[in-house]
Amino acid sequence: MSVRAIGLLSGGLDSTIAVKFMKEMGIDVIAVNFFSPFCTCTHKSSGCKSQAVKVAEEFDIPIKTYFQGEEYLKMIQNPKFGYGSQMNPCVDCRIMMFARTKEIMGELDAKFIFTGEVLGQRPMSQRKDSINKIDREAGVKGLVLRPLSAKHFNPTIPEKEGWVDREKLLDISGRSRKPQMELANELEIIEYQCASGGCLLTDKFFSNRLRDLFEYKKDVTLKDARLLKLGRQFRLSDNCKAIIGRDESENNSIEKYQEENDLLLFPENTKGPVTLLKLNNSTGNEESIKVAATFAAHYCKKIEGTEKVVFSLKQHNENKCDNIPETIESLQAGMKEMQEKVI
Ligand code: SF4
Repeated sequence: MSVRAIGLLSGGLDSTIAVKFMKEMGIDVIAVNFFSPFCTCTHKSSGCKSQAVKVAEEFDIPIKTYFQGEEYLKMIQNPKFGYGSQMNPCVDCRIMMFARTKEIMGELDAKFIFTGEVLGQRPMSQRKDSINKIDREAGVKGLVLRPLSAKHFNPTIPEKEGWVDREKLLDISGRSRKPQMELANELEIIEYQCASGGCLLTDKFFSNRLRDLFEYKKDVTLKDARLLKLGRQFRLSDNCKAIIGRDESENNSIEKYQEENDLLLFPENTKGPVTLLKLNNSTGNEESIKVAATFAAHYCKKIEGTEKVVFSLKQHNENKCDNIPETIESLQAGMKEMQEKVI
């Protein structure tokens, strides 16, 4: 009977290759996929299949998916081993993923773990010293096989036990993806997506929004993190952030993020976006509301005969914020002013 192993499958090129490669070596592969609000790959929660699920189906292997929520968010706020070039805490992220996978091994009756990691491909988490540190901290030393780069590492438990033939393993390293592309051809893998893993934490613009969130909001929630993906966002004061929808679907989504203190602005005399004002406190926001209206007016359809847009303001709880008017008139803000406050 073949030995069972967990393959960490993101759905990107490297993990896709590793899964097929190990399956063809006769390993009984069970795929495990971790996802979080920071993944760009489509996921089940959005009504579509994630790339990892599509890959598992295509290769006819079982897959288990695990959501990384509150605990993951806490780790991102204060990673023990710091961030990469953006808000990506790759070392801590991998430690968390491996530690969780080790817990799952018993449940799934798996003898070892394997990944599609390639030595030297990512500057933070795929250097030899980082990989050793990750395995040590996660308590998985010797249990993780990296078949694409195995020859650069000491033999792991599956190799020593003879479950996997070390001679057949590979020695890929470096940032070029050419060897993986060639291997994908050999393994007849035609379609792959998210070649770099599809993580928003490595994205400069998303990271700016996340830094802003951590700076201005206490007790950050997953809902706050999800909202960072939507609309045009502006920091108007310590207490106020404006999110302006970019299309109808975003306008509908933004409305659902309104919480107790927040306000929504709707253009009444022309077509235009919905604006959500995320407010830490319900008082002292008069100036920010006026500025938000000028920004929202910038994206409204021009009206013949007048330059003013009339907005209605909707409060979540009518009894709160009794200093807020029901409507507000506004002229458009200039690009320069908006650029200064964009996040
Ligand atoms: S790129 Fe994102 S998902 Fe990948 S290890 Fe880094 S933080 Fe984790």
